[in-house]
Amino acid sequence: MRRTRGDTSAAKPVSGRDGTAGRDPSRQARSSKPEPPQIAQKAKIPLSEASGWAPLHELAPGLHLVATPIGNLGDITLRGLWVLRNVDRILCEDTRVTARLLAHYGIDKPLQPYHDHNAERVRPGIIEALRRGEKLALVSDAGTPLVSDPGYKLVRAALAEGLAVTAAPGPSAALTALTLSGLPPDTFLFAGFLPPRPAARRRTLEQWRRLEATLIVFEGPSRLAASLADMAAVLGDRDAAVARELTKRHEEVRRDTLAALGEHYRTAGPPRGEVVIVIGPPAAKAAVSVDIDAVLRQRLRQQSLRDAVAELAEETGLGRQVLYRRALALQQEGS
Ligand code: SAM
Repeated sequence: MRRTRGDTSAAKPVSGRDGTAGRDPSRQARSSKPEPPQIAQKAKIPLSEASGWAPLHELAPGLHLVATPIGNLGDITLRGLWVLRNVDRILCEDTRVTARLLAHYGIDKPLQPYHDHNAERVRPGIIEALRRGEKLALVSDAGTPLVSDPGYKLVRAALAEGLAVTAAPGPSAALTALTLSGLPPDTFLFAGFLPPRPAARRRTLEQWRRLEATLIVFEGPSRLAASLADMAAVLGDRDAAVARELTKRHEEVRRDTLAALGEHYRTAGPPRGEVVIVIGPPAAKAAVSVDIDAVLRQRLRQQSLRDAVAELAEETGLGRQVLYRRALALQQEGS
């Protein structure tokens, strides 16, 4: 069933932060202004008193991947804070962004930039520090490190050396958008950012066209309308959702078809803040009650066996192999 245009979730009266950096290929600015934190008092209380949670052991040496909020400072986990308090150093994308998070929670730790522009150069030193037994955390500006953010090569390098890597999981824009989209969450493909150029974008979308899965895509606000239009053209006018400013004060999830969403943002202009697009799987083929033998016989008179099978498979959703075997049998009967 299609949802009505502009079916949006309620805005949440919660504190927020800006989600600044990203791996958006076009590097377009798209962050919103930080919102004032509202839970500062609690932040100074030791974790065990504040929450009843306390770690059972000391933090072990190694690389600790810590997820950070995607807009709401309250979304850091207790264990994430504990890790950040107990490491020797925190590797981060933008030291200013991470310094704000740490200041809010009263954490004072050395910060070391680790981003696309210095990763190759600083990685050997980081691995050396891990070999010496240091405890290091890796965070990104927002969300789960490595997910369209730096860290993959560092994790690979650490694993290759047999060094310990652990994670304090937490916020992720992709999964938050998926769960709010109202679209099937059972099988999904996270595609990161699509190429910014239309031709390359359409080629990429073409690869996913037949996939029986919900798709999750990061997109910059300025390309949103064009991307949605391309998605409708290549994937068909599927149900979709645009999740914007997740966990922030102006959180919004707009659910409609791809074409209607594209039209909305074409006329309304680029939205403020960050967005995730979630696209439903191809619509289930309508149950067909055709006489397959009759249709195959008729088509085999006009088409090659291969074309007849391919067309009928596309039209009915029936398996090619089944149709191929049946078409072959009919052809032999007729000869
Ligand atoms: N590693 C991050 C994560 O796990 O969420 C994603 C980083 S990626 C560089 C940034 C992209 O995530 C943005 O361009 C946007 O598509 C999405 N994003 C991040 N925060 C968001 C938010 N609060 N609301 C909607 N989308 C968000």
